[in-house]
Amino acid sequence: MALVADRLRETYADASPVPFWLDQPGAPEPTAPLDAPTEADLAIVGGGFTGLWAAIQAKEERPDRDVLLLERDTVAFGASGRNGGFCDASLTHGLPNGIDRFPDEIATIERLAAESFRGIEETIVRFGIDCDWNPEGEVLVAREPHEVEWMREGVELGRRFGHDTAFLDRDQVRAELDSPTYLAGMWKRSGCSMVDPARLAWGLRRAALELGVRMHERTPATGLAKTTTGVALDTPGGRVDARRVVLATNAFPPLVRSIRRYVVPVYDYVLMTEPLTADQLASIGWACRQGFADSANHFHYYRMSADDRILWGGYDAIYHWRNAVAPQLEQREATFTRLAAHFFETFPQLEGVRFSHRWGGVIDTCSRFSVMFGTALDARVAYAVGYTGMGVAATRFGARTALDLVDGRDTERTRLRLVRSKPVPFPPEPLRSVGIGLTTRALTKADRNAGRRGPWLRMLDAVGLGFDS
Ligand SMILES: Cc1cc2nc3c(=O)[nH]c(=O)nc-3n(C[C@H](O)[C@H](O)[C@H](O)COP(=O)(O)OP(=O)(O)OC[C@H]3O[C@@H](n4cnc5c(N)ncnc54)[C@H](O)[C@@H]3O)c2cc1C
Repeated sequence: MALVADRLRETYADASPVPFWLDQPGAPEPTAPLDAPTEADLAIVGGGFTGLWAAIQAKEERPDRDVLLLERDTVAFGASGRNGGFCDASLTHGLPNGIDRFPDEIATIERLAAESFRGIEETIVRFGIDCDWNPEGEVLVAREPHEVEWMREGVELGRRFGHDTAFLDRDQVRAELDSPTYLAGMWKRSGCSMVDPARLAWGLRRAALELGVRMHERTPATGLAKTTTGVALDTPGGRVDARRVVLATNAFPPLVRSIRRYVVPVYDYVLMTEPLTADQLASIGWACRQGFADSANHFHYYRMSADDRILWGGYDAIYHWRNAVAPQLEQREATFTRLAAHFFETFPQLEGVRFSHRWGGVIDTCSRFSVMFGTALDARVAYAVGYTGMGVAATRFGARTALDLVDGRDTERTRLRLVRSKPVPFPPEPLRSVGIGLTTRALTKADRNAGRRGPWLRMLDAVGLGFDS
C-alpha cells in the first residue's frame, strides 16, 4: 500500500505548486497599488469574475460613472484564476437544486441564466477575448449502476427546460472519452462551455480598463464605514470615499461580518497533467473536448487544455476551523495522492503520465449552493457571494444584481426570492466544524450505499441545509 502511495506521489513530485492557468504567458502587468486618498462613484472590492463583471456592466450602463476596482493581490488571483473552467449557465448549481429550492421561479431564473450566458459570449466577441471558449458542453458520467437512471432523469429534466441534452449508453459515452469505469452519460450540449478562466479574467480586465475603470491591484481594502455621503473604504495607500460599494470578495474574509454566517470557505484541489502525446490522446479519444464530471456526491471534474493537458480536480472538499483561508492550505498531499489514484483508475491507458501542476483554491460554499445577495450600511454596500463551486458563468448575473441592489433599483432580478432570501446559516464553531465533518462522512457513506441518503443527510435536506463543493 505504502509502495502504491509512493508511486502515486512520484507522479506529481515535480509539479509546480501554482495554478496552471496563472502560470501561462500573457499575464498582464499589475496596475499600481493605490497610494493616495481618492473618491469614486462606485468602488468594487475584489478582482475576480464578480468584481470584473460589476465594473464592466456599471460602465456599460453609465459610461460617465467613475468606477474604481481594488484587488488585494492581482486580478484572477482567487477562485477565478484557479477553477476548472466549466462555464455553465445555471444560476442555481444545476437544475435539480434550482427546482428544489425555487420551484415557483425556476423558469424565470433559467431564462435570466440563458440571457446572462449570452452576455458572456457577446462580451468575449466584442472585446476579442482569446480564452479558448469551447461550446461543446459537459458530459456527466455514471460510474455506478444506480447512477445510470439519474442520467436518464437528467436528460428528461433538461429537455423540459429547453436544454439540448442526450443520453449516452456505455459504448456512446466511451466513444466520446474512453474510460473502463463508465456505464452511461448525459451530455449537456447547450448553455455550457469550457473556457480558460485566467485568459477570460485577463480579457475582462482589459475590457474594464478600456471602458475607463480605474484599477488598483495589490491594494487590500481593510475596513468599511458609513460617511455622510457614502462609504469610506480603508486601504494601506489611503482612504477611498465612494458613493456606493460592491463587495466581490467570494470566500475570503469578508468586510461585512454577517457574510461569515452564510459562507464557508472550502478548499478544492486540482492536478494538471503534462501535455499528452498523440498516442496518449488517441488512447482516450475526447475529440470534442467537452468537460466531464462524475455524478457521485464526491465527484471529479476534468477537461482538456488547449495544449493537450488534462485538468483533473474535485472529490475532496476540505473545510478548516473558523473559516481559515491561508496560502499554506492550497497544497494537500493526501488529496493530491487520492486524485492521482483516481485519475489512473479512470484512465489506466495513461499510465506513465505525470502531473505538471498541483494547486488548491477556496470555494465560497453556502447551504443552498447558489449565489446569495445582501446589503449593508443602509444599502450603500451590496454583495454577491456563495456560488459554491459554480460561479464562472453565474458571477455575471451576481454582479448585475449587486449593481441593481446598490443603486436601489426594483428589477425583475431583485424581486426574485433567489435574490431576496438568504440561505440557512451555518452554525457557529465548534458546531460548524462538527456539522461539516459529519456531513462529509455521510456523503461518503451515501456514495458507497447506492446513493441512499442516511438520516443525517435527510435531516439536513428537510431543513434546507446542505454542504457541497
Ligand atoms: C479549484 C476550483 C475549481 C472551480 N471550478 C469551477 C468550475 O469549473 N466552474 C464554475 O462555474 N466554478 C468553478 N469554481 C468556482 C468559481 O471559480 C467561482 O465561483 C468564481 O470564480 C467566483 O468569482 P469571484 O469573483 O466571486 O471570486 P474570486 O475569483 O475568488 O475573487 C475574489 C477576489 O477578491 C479579492 N479580495 C478578497 N478580499 C479582498 C479585500 N479585502 N480587498 C481587496 N481584494 C480582496 C481576492 O484576492 C480575489 O481576487 C471553482 C473554484 C475553485 C476554487
